[in-house]
Amino acid sequence: MEFNFKSNSPYSYMRYGNYEAKYKGKEQYLVPNIEGLLNIRDLYDMFSKMDSILVDLLNMGRMCSEANDERTKFASAYFFVKQYGLLGFMVDIPINTDFMLMNEVTLKEDNFISNNCIMKTKDYFKLFFPFATTDEMSYTVTDGKVVIKSTFYLQEMLQQASLNNQLIYSNFYCEKVDWIVEYAKKMYSIFKKIYEKQNNDVQEFNIENTVNKYYFSGVPYTINMYSQTPEISWQPNSLKQAIDLSFGFMICSEKNPLKICKHCGKVFYAKNPKAEYCSPQCRNQANVYKSREKNK
Ligand SMILES: [Zn+2]
Repeated sequence: MEFNFKSNSPYSYMRYGNYEAKYKGKEQYLVPNIEGLLNIRDLYDMFSKMDSILVDLLNMGRMCSEANDERTKFASAYFFVKQYGLLGFMVDIPINTDFMLMNEVTLKEDNFISNNCIMKTKDYFKLFFPFATTDEMSYTVTDGKVVIKSTFYLQEMLQQASLNNQLIYSNFYCEKVDWIVEYAKKMYSIFKKIYEKQNNDVQEFNIENTVNKYYFSGVPYTINMYSQTPEISWQPNSLKQAIDLSFGFMICSEKNPLKICKHCGKVFYAKNPKAEYCSPQCRNQANVYKSREKNK
């Protein structure tokens, strides 16, 4: 299949066995729940699951655009995170990727997290670890090197991992439900506009503004030479980067398999390029309506 990222770039991402909601004031966060679980965390290949990741993300965006209440937001963000892990905003959003070495971090403009594009790194760090004490999660910078400090055994197990992974794979790392939902809504609105324009469903002249303005960050890559043919191996630093990358490739492909169901409006992955409905049920129901219309 055309979108087989897997053969080129296997890339593992960590998710915990479960997540829970925690509150700081009114803000709701999703945090790994490590109590009482045998299977605390596991790794999966993001690119091999990208079809369902994109479909689930876009449907989260769709649901939350239609019903923006706290219950819908939490339920859909939780459903997503439980399957695929947190998105990794902390390492995706900074423009200066070595921000942990600096006093300040500069954020991308469209970042879902803060309207301030410059923040103190200490404050930025705290944004993602609001429930951890200093003993549980802190860092020092010595001789141009960042060292994560933690007395917790799960964090110690990550010591061999890259700095990015020590941060976003931490059992103390969390993301606000609102960030996840806003990102999903943004992706859905871009997708929907492109889809409708392509399918001539609407006459809108302002599409360029929504679509062109969103900036997808560059994803580093290496070149593999396992055989005589060189292969690109993408090195996304987070689930979010992998999604941004795959979204662009799919949407801009002639054979874009992501579609909107003509009956229920859900986003689905069309294995058959001619498919118009997300399920046999939707196709049947649509046919029932059509024949009723005829018989009027
Ligand atoms: Zn449907």
